[in-house]
Amino acid sequence: DEEIIGVIGIYDDITELKQTTFRENLRTKILEMLTEEASLSDTLMVLVLGVEEQEPDARCSVLLLDNDGKHLAIGAAPNLPNDYNQAITLAEIGIGVGSCGTAAFTGERVIVENVHEHPYWQPYLALAEQASIASCWSEPIKNGHGKVLGTFAIHHQRPHAPSPTDIQFIEQMGKLAEIVIERCRSNEELKLAFMVYQTSSEGMMIVDGESRIIAINPAFTDMMGYTLDELANKDAQFLQSDRHEAKGTEGMAEQLAAAGKWQGEIWNRRRNGEIFPAWLTINTIYDNGGAVHRRVFLYADISEKKKNEEAIWHQVNFDQLSGLPNRRMFNERLEQAIKKSKRDNSKLALMFLDLDRFKEVNDTLGHDIGDLLLEEAANRLVSCIRETDTVARFGGDEFTILLPDIADLGNIGRVAHTILEAMVKPYQLGIEKAYVSTSIGISLYPDDATDAASLLKNADQAMYAAKHQGRNRFNYFTPAMQIAAQHRMRIANDLREALAEQQFRVHYQPIIELATGDIYKAEALIRWQHPHYGLISPFEFIPIAEETGMIVEIGDWVFHQAVDQVAQWRALHHRDFQISVNKSPVQFRNSVRNDIAWYEHLNALELPGQAIAIEITESLLLEENSIITNCLQESLNFGMQVSLDDFGTGYSSMSYLKKFDIDYLKIDKSFVSTLSAGNCDLALCEAMIVMAHKLGIKVIAEGIETFEQLNLLIQAGCDFGQGYYWSRPLPAEEFDAFIRKEKGRSGAKDG
Ligand code: C2E
Ligand code: MG
Ligand code: MG
Repeated sequence: DEEIIGVIGIYDDITELKQTTFRENLRTKILEMLTEEASLSDTLMVLVLGVEEQEPDARCSVLLLDNDGKHLAIGAAPNLPNDYNQAITLAEIGIGVGSCGTAAFTGERVIVENVHEHPYWQPYLALAEQASIASCWSEPIKNGHGKVLGTFAIHHQRPHAPSPTDIQFIEQMGKLAEIVIERCRSNEELKLAFMVYQTSSEGMMIVDGESRIIAINPAFTDMMGYTLDELANKDAQFLQSDRHEAKGTEGMAEQLAAAGKWQGEIWNRRRNGEIFPAWLTINTIYDNGGAVHRRVFLYADISEKKKNEEAIWHQVNFDQLSGLPNRRMFNERLEQAIKKSKRDNSKLALMFLDLDRFKEVNDTLGHDIGDLLLEEAANRLVSCIRETDTVARFGGDEFTILLPDIADLGNIGRVAHTILEAMVKPYQLGIEKAYVSTSIGISLYPDDATDAASLLKNADQAMYAAKHQGRNRFNYFTPAMQIAAQHRMRIANDLREALAEQQFRVHYQPIIELATGDIYKAEALIRWQHPHYGLISPFEFIPIAEETGMIVEIGDWVFHQAVDQVAQWRALHHRDFQISVNKSPVQFRNSVRNDIAWYEHLNALELPGQAIAIEITESLLLEENSIITNCLQESLNFGMQVSLDDFGTGYSSMSYLKKFDIDYLKIDKSFVSTLSAGNCDLALCEAMIVMAHKLGIKVIAEGIETFEQLNLLIQAGCDFGQGYYWSRPLPAEEFDAFIRKEKGRSGAKDG
């Protein structure tokens, strides 16, 4: 009758369904976030809040294991108190460190139904109390290799045991958290890698297994000038330049095949055709079957680095001032040239040059001008030689020249002549003009030596000889010169004994007053009677005594001899008798206050300072060292007179005559010896005399040998004369005899 008699109701428990739907939704949402590359913390937050939404009386957390593997950090725990969270991050994980600390440490799930009764929680009861936590289930989050990444935990306010569904749930949430953590981290790594790739200053290119270009980074485009459009699918070979200076590219293919790696220097060609050096590193990525999947090319542009290296190389091997090779470079080239000569059986010449009196230019005109002169000298030298020769600045004012492949020995002399001529021309340096000559020593391979060091040493020695012979000349190194050098050494040794062995004598040369013919002055000149070599000229041994410093002692000895002598001759011949002694610059330099000792010695013998005159050379006046010039000034203060010896041969600066109180100027014998009526030397002598007189200085002419010279000098107004015309330097007794004879002669004439 279709009448309702009852109702049947079927109740279906859909909790599980709802839960499942909910979880599915949560999972979908999370996976969406992952594909959208949301950050790790945002995604974990959604996960935790999602779980809490479903379990309203639960509070949830994801903790992440730090890189150190010992601490947990908060991944997401929005509804747990801060103090609690902080305490968790501070504790080192381990068994008994709450549920999460233990789970992270052991990698096992930890279910604590009641924290008050569980040993893991005993240290944290106060915190749990504060945070209203009564139970805590913690699921370790592990990656595919079983490595713990962190924990997923659910907390309840009341003691709570999980049902099997609950266990399943936290297990699933742990899995989901693992996916989130792993994906986010690898996303971040990818982003980082991409950023490195995009912003790297090294050019990167990726090719496939067939060597076809599939990707390049912006730095590559900057470096090479190509965009990917232009290169895509082209063979990498396309970029290689034709230049094959690159080291080791031959082995590239073999090494890549064998080890998948190669690195080395290559020449790259930019899009605009420019070729540049690059450092290339190639690495290979293989596919699962072991075939080449990708190769990664890393290019570093090393043209700047190469330029710097070249600059440094230049600095190390070249002289900055002159631009010439330096000593180091020269030695290298010399070594090479010697090897080549040995191979070819050819000769080479080595020249050692030293500018004469360069120091004077530096001292008088200043170092800047000196530098200019060196530059100019370097240019002149370069212009005198062939392209295959090497000129180097060896140091200071020393230069060396290497002349390889000498076919005709005569050529060497011709080159040397050319150099001397070029170098002696006046140097116009800004507004200053300077005159400098050059001395050259020459050694030959293989005649004089067969190794670089000896060739240099011998050339240096030959140069020294050239200086000794008067400068502005060249000299070959010959065995005879070596003997001479050895002789010098022997003399230096013998000099040490000469004083004690009483081998020195002092000879006296009269200085004649030209107007009257009176003789009341003499120059003391030392003589050395060597037991084997006989009489040795002071020209030979004084420079050696100066080099060794022995000149100080020797000079003192001469002075004492002269003082004894002058006392005697003042009594015997003339009450104003004066003896002049030569004093070397070294004596001023090496014995400060020596002038006082001399003065006191004169005083002790009751002789006035005027009894002695000191002969100095011009170079002393150029000294910048004030100790020396002060000493000189003091000598003057003591009344000792000062003669300027060898005047006209050095720098002869008038301003120095004014600066010091010079009494006598000695015209060098080189002017006197060539004197003749109307010639240039006479004009020079006349000028020197006029100038000296204007400055209140008396003039002594040295080296008068003839009557003609004497007459010309008298006419020029010269005050005193000295020379063989009257007498050679004589031992004291002979000097006495000479004066008596002269007196007798003038007496007879007068009579
Ligand atoms: P100087 O001071 O210029 O001495 C003059 C030199 O000229 C002396 O040479 C003398 O013998 C030489 N002479 C003199 N008249 C004539 C002449 O008419 N014709 C020629 N051709 N020569 C003449 P000497 O004695 O050989 O001395 C050479 C140099 O040695 C001296 O040049 C002086 O610079 C140095 N000397 C000599 N004795 C001493 C000394 O006791 N101490 C120092 N420091 N140097 C000394
Ligand atoms: Mg002298
Ligand atoms: Mg002289």
